[in-house]
Amino acid sequence: MAFLCIIEVLEGKIMKIAIYPGSFDPITKGHLDVLETGAEIFDKVIIAVAKNSAKHGFLTIDERVSLIREACAHLSNVEVDAFEGLTINYAKEKGATVLLRGLRAVSDFEYEMQLSQNNSALNNNIKTIFLITKPEYNFISSSSVREILLNGGDIAQFVPENVKKYLEQKFTN
Ligand code: ADP
Repeated sequence: MAFLCIIEVLEGKIMKIAIYPGSFDPITKGHLDVLETGAEIFDKVIIAVAKNSAKHGFLTIDERVSLIREACAHLSNVEVDAFEGLTINYAKEKGATVLLRGLRAVSDFEYEMQLSQNNSALNNNIKTIFLITKPEYNFISSSSVREILLNGGDIAQFVPENVKKYLEQKFTN
């Protein structure tokens, strides 16, 4: 009887869905750490690659999506997607109430604050939540990974294993 009651309560509960948007060009261990913490907090996290027409990407959107999919295969409540247009509209379409972003240093703060205030001006029902990575991942950025890779450095400590393999195969021949 008690068991049935618990299931009813769980089924009656509205799922807390968070969107984790970004370029992920490529996904790094810092991104993955934010995603893993998000997956512990929320019922579902959708990690969504933004298609930005103004930015010419290093990897294609399909490559980024499939690398993310492999890297987070161990997270059962994470979905991987790509989207175009305003993040806030995409979040509403997906029934999300939270936008998840990562914060590294003070240098991220100003940009992230502006972004989150723009988003809440557009739709105040969707809140931005910031997570901070483990100190060892704090300095990692996709742009430094690209720079190190293209100059023959070892990217093993910055990106998940599958990403390292793929990038090295593609760019270091
Ligand atoms: P964008 O192009 O939108 O900044 P990114 O792919 O660079 O997308 O980053 C997505 C999110 O992850 C941003 O909120 C960014 O601050 C955060 N992020 C990136 N690298 C790290 C890291 N090493 N630790 C914590 N958060 C990070």
